[in-house]
Amino acid sequence: MFTSKNRIDVVVVGSGFAGLSAAIEAAQAGCCVHMLEERDFCGGNSWISGGALAAIDTDRQRRHGIDDSTRLMFEDMMNAGRCNNPQLVKLVCMHSFEVLQWLRRDFGVKFMDRLEQLGGHSAPRCHSVEEIQGRNIINPMLARASRLGVKIHLQTQMAGFTYSDEHFITGVVSHKPGAGAQNIYANKAVILATGGFSGEAAEADDLCTSLDGSGSEVLQIAAQAGAELIDMEHLQMLPCASPDEQGRGVAPVFASYVIFPYGFMVDPSTGKRFTNEWADRKTRADAMRALSSYPVGITDQRALEVVGDMVYDHMDENVTRCFDSLEALATFHQLPYVTLQDTLRTYNRYVKQRCDADFGKSIPVKARPLQAPFYSVRLWPKAHSTMGGIRISPQAEVLHQSGQPIPRLYAAGEVTGGIHGMSRLGGCAITECLVFGRMAGRQAAMLTDIKEMDR
Ligand SMILES: Cc1cc2nc3c(=O)[nH]c(=O)nc-3n(C[C@H](O)[C@H](O)[C@H](O)COP(=O)(O)OP(=O)(O)OC[C@H]3O[C@@H](n4cnc5c(N)ncnc54)[C@H](O)[C@@H]3O)c2cc1C
Repeated sequence: MFTSKNRIDVVVVGSGFAGLSAAIEAAQAGCCVHMLEERDFCGGNSWISGGALAAIDTDRQRRHGIDDSTRLMFEDMMNAGRCNNPQLVKLVCMHSFEVLQWLRRDFGVKFMDRLEQLGGHSAPRCHSVEEIQGRNIINPMLARASRLGVKIHLQTQMAGFTYSDEHFITGVVSHKPGAGAQNIYANKAVILATGGFSGEAAEADDLCTSLDGSGSEVLQIAAQAGAELIDMEHLQMLPCASPDEQGRGVAPVFASYVIFPYGFMVDPSTGKRFTNEWADRKTRADAMRALSSYPVGITDQRALEVVGDMVYDHMDENVTRCFDSLEALATFHQLPYVTLQDTLRTYNRYVKQRCDADFGKSIPVKARPLQAPFYSVRLWPKAHSTMGGIRISPQAEVLHQSGQPIPRLYAAGEVTGGIHGMSRLGGCAITECLVFGRMAGRQAAMLTDIKEMDR
């Protein structure tokens, strides 16, 4: 597979948004790129993602009557993250429009003609790809990578680095079932884009939204090579998942698009609201996990109509339940009915006044007071993505524990840490993967070749 005659310039490990962005940029710059993917399909968690991308698109936002700015997006990401690296966040925000246009123009990716405001964002700026399926971004990227000659090796796992006599990284050691271990040398650089490890960090398999086997092996390999790992303790819990289904399921889209903006969530033991349903993910997940049982999200038929037909693809009668009356909903979920009536009355008053005096939730322009028929979802945070990982420079170089870049080693995407701090805002992962994936690919392509004798 990899003979000494192969002139490989760049080895990219991982085939999600970050790896594909890096591979495409490096190949476009004339490099011979090989990509390793340990699974038997490409795309990783990017493939199963919702494909919502946060970006400042001033013209489009103005057409929808939305005022927004790069500064505001930066502040939102910093507020949610609490400890993120401002330099890296700034780059994500500054290049958000550029990567959105890259997908639209270079790959023909189609986004729906709507803008979503996800929790913690202070303006609608999330662009939802058609069908809310990340694979609608991955597929055209894969097609482009293949046209550019990127060679993809499936079921091929990176198991370590190869080093020169002077202990510089010169490539990777790969493992493929049946083929054993092989050294793959990279004339220019290795780019790590192996994603997060929430599969490993989750309390249980069914309390995780990501693919089975999303582990941290590559982080350990990078750490052994001296890379600094940061924010490893911060796991993102997705506050819009449901205990009534396995893995991701339908609840995240239904709750994010309908319940949280156009409804409310109650503590089942009191029938009262307990948090701002549109706050950042950590604020909501922490408040939910402090309860003694699963909170119930409530919305109504009119909210579904405002959100539109696409929401019907994200419903399941065992998860997103419909009730003719509030009493029926209260009986089913064993909620205290009298208090729940009071909660509804108060919430509806806030909607009319456009001001949530209890939790400061911003009320969407199209929100109307809730009325029967109602919809409910039992909610519970599930492990979703990892905030920590390899520390990188603004050029996507992997930083050594000494603070210096490790020569010829780059990283991008969820395998890195520092961009989202403690809590990532919805839609910002895809933007980040594309911005730093492209950066890594371009930087790698600019390097001079390692001399044969230095291998
Ligand atoms: C259900 C779900 C929905 C989401 N929806 C959104 C959304 O709408 N918007 C948003 O911004 N974010 C979303 N996210 C988060 C986002 O999708 C991820 O953070 C992002 O896709 C990570 O991309 P990546 O390229 O870093 O890694 P991945 O897409 O996970 O790709 C990494 C790849 O590396 C491979 N790999 C790992 N180790 C090795 C190894 N040793 N050798 C070879 N290959 C290896 C893996 O098999 C995998 O294919 C979602 C996440 C999930 C789980």
